[in-house]
Amino acid sequence: MPKTEQWQWYVEEFSPTETHSHAIDEVYYAGRTPFQSVGVIRTPVFGKMLILDGDTQSSQNDEKIYHESLVHPAMAGAADRSDVLILGGGEGATLRDVLRHPDVKRCTMVDIDGKVVELSKQYLPEWADGAFEDPRAHVIIGDALAFLKTDKDRYGVIISDLTEPLEDSPSNILFNHDVFKDIKARLADGGVYVLQASTAGFHNMSLHAKMARTLRAYYKHVVSFYTHVPAFDNDWAFIACSDRIDLSTLETAAVDAYCAQLKGENYFYDGQTHRRIFSLPLYLRRELAKPGETF
Ligand code: SAM
Repeated sequence: MPKTEQWQWYVEEFSPTETHSHAIDEVYYAGRTPFQSVGVIRTPVFGKMLILDGDTQSSQNDEKIYHESLVHPAMAGAADRSDVLILGGGEGATLRDVLRHPDVKRCTMVDIDGKVVELSKQYLPEWADGAFEDPRAHVIIGDALAFLKTDKDRYGVIISDLTEPLEDSPSNILFNHDVFKDIKARLADGGVYVLQASTAGFHNMSLHAKMARTLRAYYKHVVSFYTHVPAFDNDWAFIACSDRIDLSTLETAAVDAYCAQLKGENYFYDGQTHRRIFSLPLYLRRELAKPGETF
């Protein structure tokens, strides 16, 4: 192993005073699309990584922790999984995990950035693992905002796998009351809407709490859950919304029975993991109970 000073580094800034540095083995792509800056690199510990606007999106060696958490609790709790919608989802791993369930007849994925999808197919094919070629996949390159305004279908599961709604991000326009209303209108009765919902790291839970607070105006059950994602060097949070089911109450045996229906084996998620990721520490429960800003 070369010494520290001989490496090139990718330094992810969580805030002006907190960073995580990844040594770089190889840079496959570094450039800008009309929507965001894109990096595709390889690091010694995490393997290949996708970076958008300076933020790690996923890594080869631990992406299953993120994607299984995002997809499977919602799918396990959904009454109808035949038609699923993904907002964002560039790398294709969310699509892959949805299509692992035999009930799925169609999965529509809408990502604004064709270049990110193209780079993922070229450099990160392990993520989609053939999902882009599955006849049930319906991939639309376009703005999720425009899609939600024109689409007339209703989905048993809607998964938001968008970049964080930071000021310059193309996802920023998707976090407001109008769009939350549009998403609810596209959700079938009793359906589940799940979103990747920023960090639950103790240093910065405010964006996550703001999302949860806002969504409570739309759904009977708005449940946060989280897991540590090593490549993010952060506790990563998700929110599951539904009028029918509180996902935290799913029984271990029911989750295991759902997982047994999936094609291939899970890496991270099962009944026991479900209990762990839906058990929130006191400081996070307190933060979520506080009144505060909404979108
Ligand atoms: N795991 C990720 C994270 O940590 O933030 C999110 C994964 S995925 C790569 C995010 C995708 O959202 C990107 O491919 C980006 O192009 C897409 N996206 C951002 N804004 C969008 C919009 N307005 N409409 C559709 N897709 C959008």
